[in-house]
Amino acid sequence: MIRTRIAPSPTGDPHVGTGYIALFNYCLAEKLGGEFILRIEDTDQVRSTKESEEKILSSLKWMGLNWAEGPDVGGPHGPYRQSERSEIYKKHCDILLEKEHAFRCFCTSERLAEVRAQQREAKSFLGYDGHCLSISKEDSQARAQKEDFVVRLKVPREGVCVVDDHFRGTIEFEWATVDMQVLMKSDGLPTYHLANVVDDHLMKITHVMRGEEWINSAPKHLLLYQYFGWEAPKLLHLPLLRNPDKSKLSKRKNPTSISYYERAGFLPEALMNYLGMMAFSMPDDQEKFTLAEMVASFDLERVSLGGPVFDVDKLTWLNGRYIREDLDVKAFAKRIQDWALNEEYLLKIAPLVQQRVDTFGDLGFLSAFFFADEVKPTEEALKASTKKDDETLLRIFQFGLWRLEALKSWKSEDIQEVFKNLATDMDLKIRDVVKPYFVAISGAASSTPLFDSMEVLGADLSRIRVRKAIDVLGGVSKKAAKRLEKEYRVLHIPKPQAS
Ligand code: GLU
Repeated sequence: MIRTRIAPSPTGDPHVGTGYIALFNYCLAEKLGGEFILRIEDTDQVRSTKESEEKILSSLKWMGLNWAEGPDVGGPHGPYRQSERSEIYKKHCDILLEKEHAFRCFCTSERLAEVRAQQREAKSFLGYDGHCLSISKEDSQARAQKEDFVVRLKVPREGVCVVDDHFRGTIEFEWATVDMQVLMKSDGLPTYHLANVVDDHLMKITHVMRGEEWINSAPKHLLLYQYFGWEAPKLLHLPLLRNPDKSKLSKRKNPTSISYYERAGFLPEALMNYLGMMAFSMPDDQEKFTLAEMVASFDLERVSLGGPVFDVDKLTWLNGRYIREDLDVKAFAKRIQDWALNEEYLLKIAPLVQQRVDTFGDLGFLSAFFFADEVKPTEEALKASTKKDDETLLRIFQFGLWRLEALKSWKSEDIQEVFKNLATDMDLKIRDVVKPYFVAISGAASSTPLFDSMEVLGADLSRIRVRKAIDVLGGVSKKAAKRLEKEYRVLHIPKPQAS
């Protein structure tokens, strides 16, 4: 039986790219009468959060997907969260050590850094130099009792690895360019590569369909399958989503989180449909189709590799068609109610507006920004929010955005803390920092309390409004961003997150 999976790492917002890969895996399994499962890859203990896992699961469900097995529904091959499978990986790592397909590496981080620096200098292959390969089995076992070590994959230094990708045909990799990957870290936890291969095998995955950024990992994975004596699943690497300018989809240029689209008032069926169009086309080229229609017509032959462009304007246009063509007035009203006029959301807004209105008629103007995707502040309004110069204003937004992006818990107190610390670090008064944000977030110079309002709006909508404010001020070029990042580090601020 065909079994496919989506294996997200819960390290951030649920990405539209995850929705896209999940959708294709779901369609393949459904079409062929197989099973689609969900596994949480949380081997990165530092970056993984429960909150992110919950958001990913709820976003995929919101899009209309469901899975036969997963951490929330259980199943015969569980647990489905890698952090609960440490014993399984340890056992498999021991098998590799025993068969001498893997080796303990006792190199210190200083030594590895030195080797890397030399390799950079010599412009040679960047990777492990094999220093610990020659340690005998007995010595390795003895040293393991008293020294820290990692376990690395033994990779041939000669010959080529042939990867057979369903969409691309065969791709050859020289073994000499494949690093001796760490499989088990010094804390005894596995890396992605070991856990992913062991789980795909034990969970009986037949087709691994994932983003093309993983192609370079395929040789290591195939080697692991071979070392374990297992049959490898079929590999299918889908093209990455791109911004309209063809660069890799990034949140700097487009909202990338599924929960943004939910909060901004998109319909799940429209987002699902749009993601379906990314690397797939219907036989009659129809642009509007349901999930059931996509499943019925799904065929790997119809998947194309040309870099699919995720264009928010196109998605918005498609969403508009769904609203106008598919919903009668009653259904439309019901969907608006579900989206924002529901009791849960109104109860969050009510305490922020009650003391500020005399009539209900005051509500519209005061609270409109809670019911909008964008607030479109003008450049003049943003600049009028401060007496500081334009450069400082841009820094207030960019440094604040980086900190807001790093924020794990989106509560009013946490947001306030960000602004307080930013003001201190930039040697500004808190009001100098907060006032521009009033305009960016609410569109007006004064409104409901900023931190509470940002909590209610949520991280996705709030961050996107700050990004838009930066754009309105002329944006930050790549060169300027590098300069700002340097300054930012001097301020002892956490490193900006990758987009
Ligand atoms: N955890 C990986 C990710 O987040 C999964 C990659 C794969 O599908 O093998 O993309």
